[in-house]
Amino acid sequence: MADDTSSNSISRRKFLESAALSAAALGATASAQSPEDAAKGEHDRSGSNPGGPLSPSLSAENADSVMPPITDHGDVHPFKYPFTFSHKRTQEGGWARQVTVLDLPVANSIAGVNMRLTAGGIRELHWHSAGEWALMLYGSARITCLDQLGKPFIDDVKEGDIWFFPAGYPHSIQGLEPDGCEFLLVFDDGRFSEYNTFMLADWTAHTPRSVLAKNFNLSEKALSSIPRGELYIFQSAVPQTSLQDDRRTAAGNVGLSSQNFTFRLMQMAPSHNDKSGEVRIVDSSIFKASTTIAAAHVIVHPGGMREMHWHQNADEWQYYISGQARMTVFAASGRARTMDFQKGDVGYVQQTLPHYIENTGTEDLVFLEMFKSSYYADVSLNNWLTHLPPALVQAHLNIDRAAISAIPHGEKVIVPG
Ligand code: MN
Ligand code: MN
Repeated sequence: MADDTSSNSISRRKFLESAALSAAALGATASAQSPEDAAKGEHDRSGSNPGGPLSPSLSAENADSVMPPITDHGDVHPFKYPFTFSHKRTQEGGWARQVTVLDLPVANSIAGVNMRLTAGGIRELHWHSAGEWALMLYGSARITCLDQLGKPFIDDVKEGDIWFFPAGYPHSIQGLEPDGCEFLLVFDDGRFSEYNTFMLADWTAHTPRSVLAKNFNLSEKALSSIPRGELYIFQSAVPQTSLQDDRRTAAGNVGLSSQNFTFRLMQMAPSHNDKSGEVRIVDSSIFKASTTIAAAHVIVHPGGMREMHWHQNADEWQYYISGQARMTVFAASGRARTMDFQKGDVGYVQQTLPHYIENTGTEDLVFLEMFKSSYYADVSLNNWLTHLPPALVQAHLNIDRAAISAIPHGEKVIVPG
């Protein structure tokens, strides 16, 4: 190994994993190289890196790619993309950056956007072909939406709140005092681009002025200073009117929408909670507006692990909010790959591919599991194995009956360190 401390500690950890595998005498695998041979390879410096680590800070953050666990094998397409790599489109009033299927080719079903709006900064009135789910990460914002009955919805959201705007519903977002906001947008289409939405000022700029005048019952002169193209994100004054005033004015005589497009995610009681962490599952069963996106907000305490599982109904798009983790995705036919995750990374797991997410840091790991589905569902390996005839499990794993009865009974969601 290169003579840097992190590489040496990585090497030691990997060697211990290798030694444990060899001791387990797993026998031959589908791989041409047995775990024992591979372990020998690392031990005899086949895996050493005398030239030193490439991109040292990236290497340190991606230890499981630089020196994969001995159980990784074969060609599994990458399932990580850091928002840090994304172009940050900055305009007066805020910025946006996105991760789509063009950035992360495996991510077919969901695209994500990270956006900042200053106090008063506006994401222009717009709509799009994808449904939009959002989590407020910082600060506060006032959002507007028009429902399918033509009735307005206006609400203020703050850190820990979510919203959902169905495809085609027009909406806006504006940062509030004192410092605007930052949030994550999740779209139910991997090909969605935040830079290709239907915007009010873009449409009016590309409509004959005589048509606009006729439509609005205005003179063309009254329209002489409309924008010449999209605004996208722009600085404006912080709203001086209260939420109640804005609602009353917008409602007019049709009234407000009877639908609720916001949900106080972090104010709900956890769906699962124990000493290893907590999970909040929000799908259309409790947040009715969110018809095409299901979410799980997961907190894993240090040493804990989101248990081995998979999802029957949809691909999983992940966003890492804080802490650090590693995840191995098993892709059948002897193929498995482990990747490391930090704050701001996007992860992705295709439907039915099993995985775990282990907290590898010293702080809480907080991340989102997002699904293009009206409902959340998973299969827990522990739950499966503890609801079978024990002799059947014993015949597969070659472990004794006492070991089988020691496996956590039922779905634990998060297992302790
Ligand atoms: Mn939108
Ligand atoms: Mn999962």
